[in-house]
Amino acid sequence: SHWSRTFTFLDGQWHEGNVPIMGVRTHAAWLGTSVFDGARAFEGVTPDLAQHCARVNRSAVAMGLKPVVSVEQWVELTHAGLKHFAPDAALYIRPMYWAEFPGARTVDADPESTRWCLSLYEAGMPDPARGTSITLSRFRRPTIECAVTDAKAGCLYPNNARALAEAHARGFENAALCDMLGNVAELATANVFIVKNGVALTPAANGTFLAGITRTRTLELLRAGGVEVVETALTWRDFLEADEAFSTGNYSKVSPITRIEERDLQPGPVYRRARELYWDFAHS
Ligand code: PMP
Repeated sequence: SHWSRTFTFLDGQWHEGNVPIMGVRTHAAWLGTSVFDGARAFEGVTPDLAQHCARVNRSAVAMGLKPVVSVEQWVELTHAGLKHFAPDAALYIRPMYWAEFPGARTVDADPESTRWCLSLYEAGMPDPARGTSITLSRFRRPTIECAVTDAKAGCLYPNNARALAEAHARGFENAALCDMLGNVAELATANVFIVKNGVALTPAANGTFLAGITRTRTLELLRAGGVEVVETALTWRDFLEADEAFSTGNYSKVSPITRIEERDLQPGPVYRRARELYWDFAHS
């Protein structure tokens, strides 16, 4: 079943299980005006929860919606919702805003009709011993002129889903997407780092991809831990010649990439350090 144990706060109360949030004329269902974020609870901690809540509010503004819940309210509600689960449960935490009604010109949304909910559901932490395989997608990340790339918006994800489907068809678990200049931007579901001669390299944020909260956190932790990290333009050739590769994202946190196209890689020392630093930070 798609339904692991789920609790959702909607319209002033908690609901268990599936709860319908959209109707036949909901603008978000019809024209895609929704934004969301993803945080995690695991091992009794919720790293960077407030940052994920702050980002969903920025995403709402970028999408032309009204961020009607304060960061403090999101955080408080999340902690209330966590009480429905075991203290060490592995959960996905998803705050979300969407538009209920169209605006005066139909394709636009009425910001006054902004609605929201907060879902928490059980989602086991992926096993880092199982590395991921990645392949280069023919799909690209749009620029800010082409899509709402400054929001974590639902409408950006069908493109990533196409990249994932293409990767799966080729026997890979994830896809790398380039920006419109042909530099690697991110994976379909996470940010990406490579390591060359002991230096960690990650695509420089250029507005085309989600420069994730886990990415920034990992980058800062590595630098504080004495590892050189460079944000720069990286080509697929750089990936094919990398010593190590790993992904960062709220869902899997720091996770090793063990195959790039036809090439096998071992989880390396910089990846291991990054994961260890992240876990220490999460539990501090
Ligand atoms: N890129 C994409 C496309 C994502 O869906 C995610 C997961 N939210 C990330 C990057 C990683 O972002 P974060 O570390 O903020 O979760």
